[in-house]
Amino acid sequence: MNNIIYFDNSATTSLNEEVFNSMKEFLLLNYSNPSSVYEFSQKSRVMIEKSRENIASYINANKNELFFTSGGTESDNWALVGATLFKGKKSGHIVTTAFEHSAVLESAKFLEKMGFEVTYISPNELGFIYVNDVVDAIRDDTILVSVMYINNEVGTIQDIKEICRMVKEKNPSILFHTDAVQALSEIEIDVKDLNVDLLSISGHKIHAPKGIGALYIKSGIDIENFIFGGSQERSRRAGTENVAGIVGFSKAIDILRKNRGVNVSKRLELRDYFLKKVKENFDFAKINGSLENRHSGNVNISFVGMDKEMLIMSMDFNGICISSGSACSSGSVGNSHVLDSMKLLDSLKESAVRVSFGESNTFEEIDIFISSLKELFN
Ligand SMILES: *Cc1c(COP(=O)(O)O)cnc(C)c1O
Repeated sequence: MNNIIYFDNSATTSLNEEVFNSMKEFLLLNYSNPSSVYEFSQKSRVMIEKSRENIASYINANKNELFFTSGGTESDNWALVGATLFKGKKSGHIVTTAFEHSAVLESAKFLEKMGFEVTYISPNELGFIYVNDVVDAIRDDTILVSVMYINNEVGTIQDIKEICRMVKEKNPSILFHTDAVQALSEIEIDVKDLNVDLLSISGHKIHAPKGIGALYIKSGIDIENFIFGGSQERSRRAGTENVAGIVGFSKAIDILRKNRGVNVSKRLELRDYFLKKVKENFDFAKINGSLENRHSGNVNISFVGMDKEMLIMSMDFNGICISSGSACSSGSVGNSHVLDSMKLLDSLKESAVRVSFGESNTFEEIDIFISSLKELFN
């Protein structure tokens, strides 16, 4: 598997070696249950709290506002279901968008089944949500608004600060959640400046392991619990802590703190090199979504006339990993609900693939990719 070319960094990222090394001690030596009272558990307890403080400070939260979860999916589920059940009890209205990650969309569908009503706002054809569409959807019984920060298929960055500001201006008691899982690697996140109530992040999109994430819950905001059991996470999220995952997540944040700016520049160079090569060789290809205000690693591109499944399989045959968009719907390459919501032409949707660069990819890898594409199209 060593000469795999991995262009699917929106689906997950490789585990950083420094992150791995920071975790080992808590897998092999300090393996005790952090809830135990004896001295042996002391270090795990301390490291969980140090990590919490470190990750919280990275998004300008206080340490008592950050709750560890099993990942972005759980954070999204908890935010939507927990907030809605707490505030709405049995009925009420939620506003979200049609191109959210399935972790949000499926939570919204569950709430619909429970008797709540949901409005799904569509983005425009460039992949942006109009603030006014969100505000216009708000009703007297609206409990929660959830709009993702950066879309995982087309990479477009929403103006969360402005959307949240306008929602709160219309009704300050509405809770605002944003799925910031894709945003963490790309932009500075400041929960106080954004003024959001709930914000989801995940480790494995920033070179931490899979299975660790967090939900920011603004101080003073109550939401219903979602996982029941012990009194971990100050009795708000039960379950023995993923100590090694938490320590690794914190280490990945340390590295991000140092490198985020450089990573963005590297990804932009790779992206622009790729786009230049595409233009030279495949003038029929079309980029989906705006190139402005977009995650630096994301390219969503339609090689018009070529079926996307065929394209993905052919690249796979050459050891090149690209995607049809959401990893959750991969395995079977279905229709993208994101591109549907942007109302793209069928010819674009049928041929759209997501190529997502990581800062460690190389120009040589892109050259190989372009050669493989040329072979396919000849
Ligand atoms: C990856 C992702 C998730 C899910 O996070 P997991 O940690 O894989 O559960 C949620 N939202 C977005 C936007 C994502 O990209």
